[in-house]
Amino acid sequence: MEAALSTDRPESVCLPAPMKKPRYKRILLKISGEILTGDQDYGIDPEVIRKVAQEIKEVVGFGVEVAVVIGGGNIFRGVAASSKGMDRATADYMGMLATVLNGLALQDALEKMAVHTRVQTAIEMREVAEPYIRRKAIRHLEKGRVVVFAAGTGNPFFTTDTTASLRAIEIGAEVILKATKVDGVYEADPLVNPGAQKYETLTYLDVLKKQLKVLDATAVSLCMDHRIPIVVFSLKERGNIQRVILGEKVGTEVRG
Ligand code: UDP
Repeated sequence: MEAALSTDRPESVCLPAPMKKPRYKRILLKISGEILTGDQDYGIDPEVIRKVAQEIKEVVGFGVEVAVVIGGGNIFRGVAASSKGMDRATADYMGMLATVLNGLALQDALEKMAVHTRVQTAIEMREVAEPYIRRKAIRHLEKGRVVVFAAGTGNPFFTTDTTASLRAIEIGAEVILKATKVDGVYEADPLVNPGAQKYETLTYLDVLKKQLKVLDATAVSLCMDHRIPIVVFSLKERGNIQRVILGEKVGTEVRG
């Protein structure tokens, strides 16, 4: 398996240039769990999470308000466990708890870099993190804190992609940045079909009609109803979050 983030670009290359103006004021970054495994098959690679945190820090340095929805697929996926006989709702609750582990790891990495961070969970666990309170999340963002939304929506049978759409609408984010291991949306899986073409832009309806697996249908429908664009891009290339917020063409943009 390839490393989740390449190390070939020195970090200094990606430091914010003071004259550049970000395209967005408030973003929702969706980080899928699988990015966090790095070269491992499972779990959290501390080096990868440090690099993700570094990229977030750079974006915060531009004055952009950053909320994060973190997945849990690197630890536990409800659907996979239920296909092996586990009760689906129970498996989904385990999946949601997995996202909390990732959220806390990201908070730790960010705070080691002096980035003020709050984790809010959709399932209450007050000893560990704040409960999700929309107005409080917005206040944190206004104060320049990164807010990490963990435990998904708090409901089984949903995904963290849907969580990202929901939270983006709730907090008034202008865009969803979906960071994955693939550099955009392809007509077919590029790992299975190396000749597959990448889309530069897609409409929400294209994604739904073509049944592209980039985001689940519920997540896309929510974004369509509320006109929130989604940029799908790879975190393997250093500095990509910054490129997207500075308006460079990166990955695939899904919009109306
Ligand atoms: N999950 C859930 N409800 C939610 C969000 C997530 O039940 O609102 C569970 C579900 O079992 C899912 C797991 O949490 O498989 C991990 O989330 P996801 O698969 O979306 O993570 P990612 O693919 O982004 O790593």
